[in-house]
Formats: sequence, C-alpha cells, structure tokens
Amino acid sequence: MKKIILTGDRPTGKLHIGHYLGSLENRAKLQDEYDQYIIIADVQALTDNFDNPEKVRKNVLEVTMDNLACGIDPDKSTIFIQSMIPEIAELTIFYSNLVTVARLERNPTVKTEISQKKELFGVEGDSLTYGFLGYPVSQTADITAFNADIVPVGEDQLPMIEQAKEIVRKFNSLYGDVITEPKAMIGNVARVKGLDGNNKMGKSLGNAIYLSDNEQTITLKVMSAITDETKIKKYDKANPDKCMVGYYHDIFSEKDKEKVFLECRQGLRGCVDCKKQLASNITKTLAPIREKRKYYEERPELVEQILKEGIKKARKKARQTMKKVKKAMKINYFKNN
Ligand code: ATP
Ligand code: MG
Repeated sequence: MKKIILTGDRPTGKLHIGHYLGSLENRAKLQDEYDQYIIIADVQALTDNFDNPEKVRKNVLEVTMDNLACGIDPDKSTIFIQSMIPEIAELTIFYSNLVTVARLERNPTVKTEISQKKELFGVEGDSLTYGFLGYPVSQTADITAFNADIVPVGEDQLPMIEQAKEIVRKFNSLYGDVITEPKAMIGNVARVKGLDGNNKMGKSLGNAIYLSDNEQTITLKVMSAITDETKIKKYDKANPDKCMVGYYHDIFSEKDKEKVFLECRQGLRGCVDCKKQLASNITKTLAPIREKRKYYEERPELVEQILKEGIKKARKKARQTMKKVKKAMKINYFKNN
C-alpha cells in the first residue's frame, strides 16, 4: 500500500515561486511514490475572504492550473475542491471539541497572520472571527480525512502540523486508534522571502513573482527588489547577502552565482545588470511551467473535468474515514450509516 500525501493551497491568488520551491516541486516528484491528494482549500480561503467570494471562486481554477503546470499528473494525483467534500466540514466540528481556544490563540502561524493583517489592512484584533481562529482545526480535518501520512509544506505551516498532531493524539486517546498522525515534509527552500525583503513571499502580501508572470513582468518586479542600501553608485562595492537580488540569484542562478557574487563584492557589476541577469534566469526556469499552464488556460473544460474526477475520488476516501470516525465516536446509530 502506498503512503498517503495531503497537500494544497488556498485559492486566494495565483501561485508563486515560493509555492513552487516550498511545495509544488516536491508534489510533482512525490506523486509516483505516494497516493497524493491536493486540496484547493476554498473553505479555508473564505475564513479571511468571506466578504470577497468572487476572488476565491476565480482562483480555484487558477490554482488548479498552477498545480497542473508544475507537473501534477491527474492520473497520479487527486486534485479536489475542499467545499465539495462535506465530510471535511463534519470532521472539523468533531475536532473542535478537542482543542482549546487558548491553544489556537497561541498558534504561531495564526499569530503572525493576524499581525500581518493588522499591518497591511488595519484589521483590528476584535474583528478576529471564530472561523479564522479555527482554521487550524479545519486544516487538521483536511489532512486526516484522507488519513495522510505526509504533508509537504513550507516552513510557515509547521505549527499547523504540530497542532494537527495534537488533535489527532487527543482523538485517538479518547476514541481509539483511528486517525493517522501526519508528518510535515519541508521543500527545497523552506521559506522563500518576498521581493520586498519580507521573510515570506505570500500571495496575499503583494511581494511575489507568480508562476504565470511573463518575462516583462518578472523583469519589472526584479527591478523593484530591495538591494544593499550602502551601494549608491554603479561601481560601489556591495554585499549580496544584504540584497534580495543576491538572495534570488542564490536560488535561480546555479551556473553564474559565484561570478555574480564576486563581481558585486568587488564593485565590478552594477545593480541593473545584476537584476537583468536574474530576471532572465528566473524566466528561463519558469518557461516550461508557463508553457504547460498555457495549454490548460486554453482548455478550461479539461481543468473542470480533472476537478470533477478528483472530487469523486476524494469523496470516496473521505467517506471511508468518516465511517471509522463515527463508529469510534459511537455516533453510527444505524447499521448502514
Ligand atoms: P495566503 O497569503 O493566502 O495564505 P500563501 O502564499 O501563504 O497565501 P498558501 O496557499 O497559504 O499560500 O500556501 C500553500 C503552500 O505553499 C503551503 O504549504 C505553504 O507553506 C507554501 N508556501 C507559501 N508561501 C511560501 C514561501 N514563501 N516559501 C515556501 N513555501 C511557501
Ligand atoms: Mg498561507
């Protein structure tokens, strides 16, 4: 029996290079070896976008296409939409008894996201909803409804997996050993920083290079990246470690990064040249992804069909888990329920 993976994204925007390096690259590699489920987490996206359902709806297809563009094969991986699997919502309710409000308030990811919202949108603490505070519980249900062993995630999600483990342990200790305890798996770059120097590139943070960006957009974005502020004139010496362009060269410029760093330190290369080269390297890396994405953009009915089939498969699996859960919780009242 293959081990099970559950991973996914919130349909809050198109996916970016952080998602690719943090998670999607791994997903494409792991789909042969594992039984992989990819959730498009629309219910979770609504927890902080409930007033903008149009945005969530639109991005369900975008995020699906981003996954397919990165090499997710629908014959090997099951891609599905969270809200189409009501068993997840059911399981969320059962799990909500097994976690305290104080524990959720202490969750580091939730804390960071709340303070980012305050900074970016001026959202006050007292407008924190029950739904948003509880999204780690719903994420635990996403993972465990499929009895996932492994969850490939970026570093920002580690506290979520810790929270999930605690809920699973509590469930199993109360009702019997029914639910698999999941493990996180970190990608090649655990946390890709944003163009603005923020320690996370995020699709809700406006500091990202998207997988669907063309060369012109990538160049414009790279031109705006934060550089070493002590370098004022073209041939001033600078420190690539203090520069976002240096940071991305390290990831995307395998072949020429040594030369780029040396020339930067010795004051032999201006920032504009350095940025142009980076933009060209990122464009080259993303070219096959962009091409594959175009194929699916031109065939929206195919993307819909892939989702419909994924939903069917995912629902079957989640139903099996719920049967066991209800039996363990003694709420299987009649023979066939
Ligand atoms: P949002 O701002 O709406 O939360 P996001 O950019 O954080 O969007 P998610 O859909 O929440 O994206 O995350 C999907 C997956 O990608 C998660 O596993 C997350 O850890 C990973 N991920 C997101 N941003 C990064 C990043 N900058 N570096 C590495 N992994 C990332
Ligand atoms: Mg996120």
